[in-house]
Amino acid sequence: MTSPRGSYFIKTWGCQMNVQDEQKMASLLQDEGYTPTTSAEHADVILLNTCSVREKSEEKLFDFLGRLKNLKTKSPQTVIGVTGCVAQQEGEAVIKRAGHVDLVMGPRRIGRLPELLTQARTRSAVTRSGIVDTALDDLSAIFWDGGRGVRSGAMAYLTIMEGCNMGCAFCIVPRTRGREVHRPMAQIVEEARRRVGQGILEIELLGQTVNAYRDGRKAFHHLLEAVAIIPGLKRLRFTSSHPAFFTANTAAAMAAHETICPHLHLPVQSGSDAVLKAMRRGHGIADYFRRLEDLRRRIPGVAISTDLMVGFPGETEQDFQATLDLLRQARFSQVYAFKYSPRPGTTAATTCDDDVPESLKGRRLTQLFALQEEISLEENQQLVGRTLPVLLAGPSRRDASVASGRTPCNRVVNVHGARLEEDMGRIMMARITAAHRHSLSAKPAI
Ligand code: SF4
Repeated sequence: MTSPRGSYFIKTWGCQMNVQDEQKMASLLQDEGYTPTTSAEHADVILLNTCSVREKSEEKLFDFLGRLKNLKTKSPQTVIGVTGCVAQQEGEAVIKRAGHVDLVMGPRRIGRLPELLTQARTRSAVTRSGIVDTALDDLSAIFWDGGRGVRSGAMAYLTIMEGCNMGCAFCIVPRTRGREVHRPMAQIVEEARRRVGQGILEIELLGQTVNAYRDGRKAFHHLLEAVAIIPGLKRLRFTSSHPAFFTANTAAAMAAHETICPHLHLPVQSGSDAVLKAMRRGHGIADYFRRLEDLRRRIPGVAISTDLMVGFPGETEQDFQATLDLLRQARFSQVYAFKYSPRPGTTAATTCDDDVPESLKGRRLTQLFALQEEISLEENQQLVGRTLPVLLAGPSRRDASVASGRTPCNRVVNVHGARLEEDMGRIMMARITAAHRHSLSAKPAI
């Protein structure tokens, strides 16, 4: 049956905050009577939910928009919207570069999406010009939770804070998402309880610097503890943490509650103190290791993942070698690494020369990944033969006939023999049969 409002298609790039924003927008559109479609060509509303952390993601947006130009000519009533961080950062400039865009909406305006779509439709039919709404001052919409609850199988994201008060030299987030706004703790716990009542087994608390969360005298670890004891909740995660705010109290809360997954994503960015200082990260390598050691002492086997950047302005060979040493010593379970690219409006882009040649950045990145893959494989090999609980979430990326899920320590496990339909959303005990660089293979444990 065709929906009376039509259909929508959303394409998202970037982090979990963006993924959650997509879920919020989808939920709002469904409440308005729109139905989802997997094809942009057949959609009445196309939303491109963007990321501006790296130059590449921005290029992908304009490539995608270029491909939609013909579609808009053939079907002028289709509404094309750009949302997310590029929308916030570029505003009007998106429409100047791609005149077929009807709506540019910043992440803090999500709650106004239906109203803005109506305005965009009316206005573009009359004046053929799109509308831009990137105000940062309206906080009412940012913690809007999707009415009937945003759901994705048995897992849910829950935003607890938005924005960032740090000023990392390479990062555009404080500009695109604004300063920190923290949601009241009672409201978060209430929403978590409601989600668990709806069948959610795993909740992931989200925030740009999630562990900077505060509500009056209550700090992040108080919130963690309050959510961790909700009856029926099986797993609690949080991301992304900032090393400067990772306290012993948080480590203690993780150790004390079985529901809090033994996994921490703690972005470090570089192994060199000189580079960290230039990046204005607000932490050094010694502090970082102190926190890792404390957590590992409390939770043996805890998995730690990180973000790294190569080729930040001024990064010498010695600095880069310090990053490789960090990898050898820290033995991360997973690393997300990128080449530095200057983002307009950041301190680094305005005050530093992008002086590490592209080819050298590329070589460093390749070398970093090669080392990390060896480490990840060795770490994964230690799990072979063990039986672990896997929360099955969907088909494997490589083989759609195999069910895939994650362990509490956030490792991807492809469970051969699990049923794709019936076992989805279940926690299954699985015996690990083989280790790979990015995943594990397993069989259901009998
Ligand atoms: S902590 Fe730094 S990298 Fe993270 S969002 Fe804030 S400014 Fe960006």
